[in-house]
Amino acid sequence: MNTEMEIKKAANILANAKRTVASCGAGISAESGIATFRDPGGVWEKLNPAEVGTAGGLLNTLTNNPHKLMPFFIELLETFQNAEPNPAHLALGELERMGILQTVVTQNIDNLHIEAGNTDVIEVHGNGFRIRCISCGGSERLQRKQIIKDTLKKVREIKEFTLETIASLLPPCRNCLAPTRPDVVMFGEMVKDIPQAFDAARKCDVLLAIGTSGTVYPAAHLPFHAKESGAKIIVVNPNENAFSAVSDIYIPMKAGAAMDEIIKAIRRLMH
Ligand code: NAD
Repeated sequence: MNTEMEIKKAANILANAKRTVASCGAGISAESGIATFRDPGGVWEKLNPAEVGTAGGLLNTLTNNPHKLMPFFIELLETFQNAEPNPAHLALGELERMGILQTVVTQNIDNLHIEAGNTDVIEVHGNGFRIRCISCGGSERLQRKQIIKDTLKKVREIKEFTLETIASLLPPCRNCLAPTRPDVVMFGEMVKDIPQAFDAARKCDVLLAIGTSGTVYPAAHLPFHAKESGAKIIVVNPNENAFSAVSDIYIPMKAGAAMDEIIKAIRRLMH
């Protein structure tokens, strides 16, 4: 397989596409400094998903052993604070402006697709910078860098970590003043906007699967669903993934460099 040829073919397919969907996983944000969970050195090597990945487990750990988690949360906040959209996110913004890409379906919670300029972003695992009221369910989008700055300042002022002091880190609900939580999907919770995501996959003629291992369902089914509906599938991932049976084009590169090359090749075709 010749990667340069695959990039040219991908550019050709995208330049002629009527509707394109990008289905993205944690890998697209790796070059923004946000580590994937499953790759070596990822979160699941350091923490037990049962203790932090479910709402019940997290509440239990925060109640009984907050000191175990707070350094991890502070590190996570600092990572998200320093992150910026990378060339792969920016390329998806550019593909939308070129009229080639209509929808991004992302498993990421980092807000970087929106910051890169994509306007139709389906966040199936939620958004870490949107809060949801635990009483009335109302939600509010927050400014990523500002809320992290405010939260880190409050964290550093806390003398003793208790459930109450930790809950007070997020702003209360604007409507009913009840406590809020980050609007992200934890293990065992319902994923979001799945009908819209599958509808987009069914209607597209090209699906770009970027930085996703294909192990987290139901998002992992999107390329298969698109393929069954007749779409061409372009996979960008430097590592082995679950899409080899459906991919028409496989680009075994990091997302940033691959998407940059694809955009350049599309521009050459269009001029
Ligand atoms: P995942 O199953 O989608 O796996 C990550 C994939 O990214 C792997 O296949 C890996 O080969 C690939 N990858 C690594 N570096 C890459 C690069 N530079 N370019 C392209 N591909 C690259 O995701 P996961 O890490 O197992 O995380 C599971 C879930 O946790 C995600 O679906 C997401 O909801 C959440 N998560 C979100 C973020 C974020 O918001 N940035 C980060 C980590 C995890």
